[in-house]
Amino acid sequence: MHRPLDFSHERDVKVEDLVRRVQAYYPDADFVMLRKAFHFADRAHKGQKRSSGESYITHPLNVASTLIKLRMDLDSIIAGLLHDTIEDCDVTPEDIEKEFSESISQVVVGLTKISKIKFKTKEESQAENFRKMVVAMAKDLRVIIVKLADRMHNMRTLQYVSDEKQKKIAQETLDIYVPLASRLGINSVKAELEDLCLRFLKPETYYKLAEKVAMKKSERELYIKSVKDEMVEKLLSYSLKVEVRGRPKHFYSIYKKMISRGVDFEQIQDILAFRLIVSNITECYKALGIIHSSFIPIPGRFKDYIAIPKVNNYQSLHTTVIGPGAERIEIQIRTHDMDEVAETGVAAHWKYKEGLVSGSTKSQLQWVEELLEFNKNVESSSEFMEAVKSDLDSGGIFIFTPKGDVRELRYGATPLDFAYAIHTEVGNHCVGAKVNSKMVPLKYTLKSGDSVEILTSKTQTPSKDWLKIAKTGRAQSRIKQWLHKVERAKHRELGQEVFEKSLKVFSTSIKALVKNGDIERIIREFKLKSDDELFISIGSGRLQTKTILKSIPSIKDKVVDENFEDKIEEITTFSRKLSRSVKKKSNKDNAIIVDGMDDLMIRVAKCCNPIPGDPIIGFVTRGRGITVHMKKCNVIDKVSVDRCIPADWNEEFKFRHPVNIKVITHDKPGILSQISKSINNIGINIKSAMAKSLLDKKGSFIFEIEVKDYSELLKVIGCIEGLSEVISVHRI
Ligand code: MN
Repeated sequence: MHRPLDFSHERDVKVEDLVRRVQAYYPDADFVMLRKAFHFADRAHKGQKRSSGESYITHPLNVASTLIKLRMDLDSIIAGLLHDTIEDCDVTPEDIEKEFSESISQVVVGLTKISKIKFKTKEESQAENFRKMVVAMAKDLRVIIVKLADRMHNMRTLQYVSDEKQKKIAQETLDIYVPLASRLGINSVKAELEDLCLRFLKPETYYKLAEKVAMKKSERELYIKSVKDEMVEKLLSYSLKVEVRGRPKHFYSIYKKMISRGVDFEQIQDILAFRLIVSNITECYKALGIIHSSFIPIPGRFKDYIAIPKVNNYQSLHTTVIGPGAERIEIQIRTHDMDEVAETGVAAHWKYKEGLVSGSTKSQLQWVEELLEFNKNVESSSEFMEAVKSDLDSGGIFIFTPKGDVRELRYGATPLDFAYAIHTEVGNHCVGAKVNSKMVPLKYTLKSGDSVEILTSKTQTPSKDWLKIAKTGRAQSRIKQWLHKVERAKHRELGQEVFEKSLKVFSTSIKALVKNGDIERIIREFKLKSDDELFISIGSGRLQTKTILKSIPSIKDKVVDENFEDKIEEITTFSRKLSRSVKKKSNKDNAIIVDGMDDLMIRVAKCCNPIPGDPIIGFVTRGRGITVHMKKCNVIDKVSVDRCIPADWNEEFKFRHPVNIKVITHDKPGILSQISKSINNIGINIKSAMAKSLLDKKGSFIFEIEVKDYSELLKVIGCIEGLSEVISVHRI
């Protein structure tokens, strides 16, 4: 019989209780070692007390007990017993390695590292904390599981510490440990921690909720029993043996619902959750069918996490039905194995075995590795935290790749998010997307079940606009990462230039400073990592050129001279202006905007040569970027609609566009100069002109002129049409 895990504080738990419990699921464990770990910890913590007044050893015993409930391996349980010995006692990692094993010692060292993280500002420290924890658990995921068990017991006994400490620890738990437990799929721990956080962060809300849930307890229990009986009976009539559990939902999930819907407790209807445990997947669907034919299901609430598991490997069928007495009840249907994974997540993979080689554990590790890789490339910890949190909140819609693979993305995700979900490279080079075989703009909002094909181009790179389009943390962070890299390169270039020019004022150069060792001295003095970082610091304005020059012995005295000071100032300002004007120009480089892709290879079609003001449409070519045609262009009629993409003129673009006009006139001497003059009079430049005599004493002229946009072209045409000898004017 499965029961929800209970992590309550056990006041009198003894090592022999632990031994017995481990024996029940792992009979061949090394119990001598387990007892030895207890005695080792007991001796180390001798005389120490918890805030509750209990002797300290109850804490490691409870941590070990939680790990046993999660069915963790012996190493983790032993590490749980020893987890505070290095930090609080005179024990060294070598002692633990000698007495136990290297891997146990490593887990304990990892835990000690996590607990030693120093606080800076509030926001920043949590993020930093999280970052370091990710680093710690990358070596051994068990570190974080033992840490969660440790935190669980600390939260369970939080009433004994000061109010201030309660709030601080509870907030940290909610910010860091809850998301971690969730990401690792350890839902039993996650739900329990959430409820405890609510209790200490919002005690009034918590106790009110607890009271209300408790109020109709006997009534509710009767109701639960009757629903259970009814379900079992229905299912049995189809010879389906099933275990049914029913209970009120966790306080925190009720609380979240109240907040998100902006309603009172009384208005929350579905506070009861039932779980049906069956033997295999076929039975899951069979049970679902029976439930749906016995109770009215609520539309839109059915979710199939068996066919499409959550990122943390969670599998289950979810549905909400109207139960007896018109009460809404949530139902989860799953197998025993799925239930185990749902409760204990990644911990389930240490069950009965010492090592960790299993498909889903690998994918959990991959997640950690991705985080670590990202960790290397991001500057601020809060940015890192942001990315982690929003990835954790993912879930919502399921998108298919052309090959039929499925990705889960959050609500509101765009094709750009999907591109980044496939691979960073795909995201970085994304030029467009086809959803269900139709071309869509990048900002298109994807819907569950959409099949998405991403179009890429080697010349494409991310732009700032993309940050507005991307909705997932992953895409956001990858785009920022790219922009950051580009910015660094720009700063580096600018910084080197400013530095070189400033040195020239003193008749020296970077090369000379490298030679005489001054550069190395500067790097050391300003605590920089490399000469690149020196240039970046100058380019970004973090370090003043003057300050650096003043630190160079050979020119130090001259720098103080006012003339030189002005000169350096001038160089810096000039270079900055220059780099800014370059930047601005690049923003206006493209005459056409195709859905925020400003760096994209876009060309104007020769066949219709559109100019600003003409209604245009983009055509996605094979490998040559996008060609822009007039909407009425004949070519567009012939291409397939699904390769067309909306395009617009960039209003910032100030360059002129060449356009040809054909003028037919009565053949009179001096007519060419007359037309040219009137064009020039309205300030339009003629690039070339061609004249031809026609029959019937008519003349034909083709002018290539440059106009700003369509309205300017109309002005030119109107002007020429006004001339008495002119028969017709056409754009060609
Ligand atoms: Mn502890």
